[in-house]
Amino acid sequence: MAKYDYDLFVIGGGSGGVRAARVAAALGKRVGLAEAYRFGGTCVIRGCVPKKLYVYASQFPEHFADAAGYGWTVPAARFDWRTLVANKDREIARLEGLYQKGVENAGGETFRSRARLVDRHTVLIESEGRTVTADQILIATGGRPNPHAALPGHEHCIVSDDVFDLPELPGTIMIEGGGYIAVEFANVFHGLGVDTTLVYRGQEILGRFDMDMRRGLHEAMEKKGIRILCQTIAERVERRADGRLDVNLSNGETLTVDQVMLALGRLPNSGNLGLKAAGVERGKTGEIVVDSFSRTNVDNIWAIGDVTNRIQLTPVAIHEAMCFVETAFMNNPTEPDHDVVATAVFSQPEIGTVGLSEDEACRRFPAIDVYRAAFRPMRNILAGRDEKMIMKLVVDHATGLVLGAHVLGPDAGEMAQLLGISLKAGLTKDDFDRTMAVHPTAAEELVTMYAPSYSIRNGERVSGR
Ligand code: NDP
Repeated sequence: MAKYDYDLFVIGGGSGGVRAARVAAALGKRVGLAEAYRFGGTCVIRGCVPKKLYVYASQFPEHFADAAGYGWTVPAARFDWRTLVANKDREIARLEGLYQKGVENAGGETFRSRARLVDRHTVLIESEGRTVTADQILIATGGRPNPHAALPGHEHCIVSDDVFDLPELPGTIMIEGGGYIAVEFANVFHGLGVDTTLVYRGQEILGRFDMDMRRGLHEAMEKKGIRILCQTIAERVERRADGRLDVNLSNGETLTVDQVMLALGRLPNSGNLGLKAAGVERGKTGEIVVDSFSRTNVDNIWAIGDVTNRIQLTPVAIHEAMCFVETAFMNNPTEPDHDVVATAVFSQPEIGTVGLSEDEACRRFPAIDVYRAAFRPMRNILAGRDEKMIMKLVVDHATGLVLGAHVLGPDAGEMAQLLGISLKAGLTKDDFDRTMAVHPTAAEELVTMYAPSYSIRNGERVSGR
């Protein structure tokens, strides 16, 4: 008889946990997986997927406006929030089913329950009040929005978990934060017709991104009518008698809005998991500490995804899951590769980026050449839209290696995926130059920027057009 009930028990049915459970089960391992809320996790249920659907929804007013320049007369459009929410719910339910079935069809067993470690090989399935045992245990419980408990009145605010299912679309919203979620939702709400103010503590939105992308997006958002207040924080939020919210800002202003959304980063979901009972170590922000193979200090317990607070992105969690399966079950120790990760911000216009920003490249390399183009994409011309697209390659002068590629404009996310392959492969500017352009596209600019726009030596700009 087997020593344990399962070869692998996974706690958390998000992108990472489901992938590990499904692949391990397909290898013939006896796998159990417990999910406390809904299969699919943050990405599918209240993150990337519904967000992208709402981004699409919010883009239609610009499409309607642009259509006139192409000869179309579009009658006055009306938007119905509840229809969008209901249609989103249907799609999310479909995906959730696929996630759960994926594990079950591979031979894994699923539990809709919280699960907690009792010791290093025992897991309590809370809804059933019974314990199971497992040889290997994987924790993939993800993260949750930072509630910003230090802000007086934070209990009146919403976070990204709440935003998809608001009973009605607010007329006005203030969003605090300058990261992915704040910027994406500022654009979503503005596009849906909501009077939107973005409040950010730093000098420029989207810290860690290339400055041209940050400034270019900031400008484009303001031109659309989104108010952006940098170097400002909310100091107090109060509910008024009429149900609206007064927000006192550090710049002395008081905003009165229907909703306040906080998008101030995400915290690892590592509470009430029995980590202490099993002897699993946590770090300063509550993250589960793992080695380069995603193994915790307890050698049969592993953790992947946002609960480890490495890179909080779905594809990274999935990659970590695949490496975990290789290491734990295929006798092929594989470290996740966290280098050169392409990413996109689904703002309007989008940002697609991979590799080093200009500033970061300057810190690491003595001689940098920057190739930069700013132009109106073709589709904006007849539309009469003066929004510019920016493309930028950051190149190591000594080797010609393309260190960073950054795009602001339509479909930048799609481009980032392909640029990611080029940078991962370690291609040089010469490789870009000898690649034939695809005409007429916006992306052809990436292979037709022949002369550097400027060069930087030891942090100083030494030449430039
Ligand atoms: P981010 O880490 O992107 O941004 C957090 C923002 O909150 C920063 O601007 C930060 O400011 C600010 N902040 C943090 N604490 C405070 C505070 N106490 N007071 C005021 N401002 C504060 O987190 P998000 O919540 O936007 O998103 C979480 C993660 O989810 C992202 O890091 C990303 O990995 C992932 N994600 C990815 C998406 C994508 O791939 N398109 C979309 C959405 C989320 P500062 O810059 O000064 O530190």
